[in-house]
Amino acid sequence: MTRAELAGKIVNITNDYFEKGIDIVIAQGKDVDLYLAKLPRISFDLKGKTAGMVKTRYNDVNIRFNLDIASIPENTQNFLLRTIPHEVAHTFVSVYHPDADNHGSIWRRWMISLGAKWEDTTRCHNYAGVKRARKVTQYAYHCSRCSRDVWMGAIRHKKTQKQETLYLHNCGGKLPADEFTGKVRIQE
Ligand SMILES: [Zn+2]
Ligand SMILES: [Zn+2]
Repeated sequence: MTRAELAGKIVNITNDYFEKGIDIVIAQGKDVDLYLAKLPRISFDLKGKTAGMVKTRYNDVNIRFNLDIASIPENTQNFLLRTIPHEVAHTFVSVYHPDADNHGSIWRRWMISLGAKWEDTTRCHNYAGVKRARKVTQYAYHCSRCSRDVWMGAIRHKKTQKQETLYLHNCGGKLPADEFTGKVRIQE
């Protein structure tokens, strides 16, 4: 299968799962949300170690897939059986249960309703040929406005310490150099 053929296959399978999801919504007696009134927009612009992702914004549902991962022969089958229903389930959960846990019981029930096997509802996929993300060091600042810890990457931390830039927390609080707590963590 060429990449283009695989992409076409992924689009068809995604649309099939999506239509199945719409049937489930209707069978549950729910209204079909405006978001779901048309087929999702499917793109193949995802890179790196993430296999799939959904973005729901206004009435645009965008399911993004990583064709590099899908096209490695030993991954293709799992990609079709797991990653596609995984993302389609996220789509329905994000519309009908916006406060539900990402990979919690509601999402898992959606996966099963769409026809995925229980063992495919585990959240981590071990796909071949996927480079692990590099480790990043983060630095905690205390936000005096909301008194939360705010984690900064190395570049922001350096600029803050040199007083080149004054970053703000999304609450509007300031994060000056002397609010560095000394806490450092390494994220993978
Ligand atoms: Zn997920
Ligand atoms: Zn804050």
